[in-house]
Amino acid sequence: MIIVVKRNSEKAQLDTLIKWVKMQGVEVDISVGSNSLVLGLIGDTSKIDIDLVGSMNIVESVKRIGEPYKCANRKFHPEDTIIEIGGHKFGGNNFQIIAGPCSVESEKQVIEIAKAVKASGATLLRGGAFKPRTSPYSFQGLREGGLSLLLKAKEETGMPIVTEIMSVNHIDLFKDVDLVQIGARDMQNFELLKEVGKMDKPILLKRGLANTIEEWLMSAEYIMSEGNKNVILCERGIRTFEPLTRNTLDLSAIPLLKELTHLPVIVDPSHASGLSRLVKPMSLASVSAGADGLMIEVHNDPKNALCDGAQSLTPVQFDDVVKSVDVVLPLVNKERK
Ligand code: PEP
Ligand code: MN
Repeated sequence: MIIVVKRNSEKAQLDTLIKWVKMQGVEVDISVGSNSLVLGLIGDTSKIDIDLVGSMNIVESVKRIGEPYKCANRKFHPEDTIIEIGGHKFGGNNFQIIAGPCSVESEKQVIEIAKAVKASGATLLRGGAFKPRTSPYSFQGLREGGLSLLLKAKEETGMPIVTEIMSVNHIDLFKDVDLVQIGARDMQNFELLKEVGKMDKPILLKRGLANTIEEWLMSAEYIMSEGNKNVILCERGIRTFEPLTRNTLDLSAIPLLKELTHLPVIVDPSHASGLSRLVKPMSLASVSAGADGLMIEVHNDPKNALCDGAQSLTPVQFDDVVKSVDVVLPLVNKERK
């Protein structure tokens, strides 16, 4: 962290600032220039409140140099993290496709879709049981019943399951879930992040609707700092001023994250675009940008889906996407296995 002190500050005020900084457990390197005085803070500055420093009246500006996340930082863990779920690896040169309905609606629906997406090459089955809906009057998911149906589909197909947790009170209900999803709306539900950080299973952390990459990595840090190092990041589009798509897929986040973190990064082109016809081009773009996997919504009857029918692919359309993804994968040195 670097603090630029205002010109003509009183020595007493400067001494108080330096004393305060040292009390935070860091060393201070003082450089005196012709126009300004710069304090270089050396050591762990992660606990220093940058806004508080900036508000001090002798401070001209303050800037963090290092990233505030440690566990998720590639600097301290240069190798890609590889997370294995039911024999399927995320990260490195592995590529996985997660697919399934937005919401679990019935046994017949989820099993039919599971079988279809598995036949096309999906390795994990997704399906919402607890649904975060904008309106309290919309379908809220089958809740515990939805989890049981997902488990039935797992038994039937052998596919590991991915589903969203929305409450710390539900942790026990998720004991047989293979990959626990934190949805966009809960990316900064810090109490929930801390609890899933104590779970002994991988976490799929979706990007918040309007969160920066650094905020997203800090949320991963919350989970990891509790001991759970198995976090997969999922870019699902962010809010912009563009109304023609549901969100705007932030493709540049993928290669940037690959530099900043060792964690696997996957993309959800369904929620990113909100339009089924955009799912294929956005999937191919994501693969080209270096994603480690995709999560795609598939429904056997999109027109009558209880949630997100407009962005859901039919099993036939999904099969076509997988075939096209397979053409691009060798170009980015990745393999579905
Ligand atoms: C989902 O994947 O079911 C979902 C609700 O997505 P998001 O949290 O990204 O909106
Ligand atoms: Mn959905």
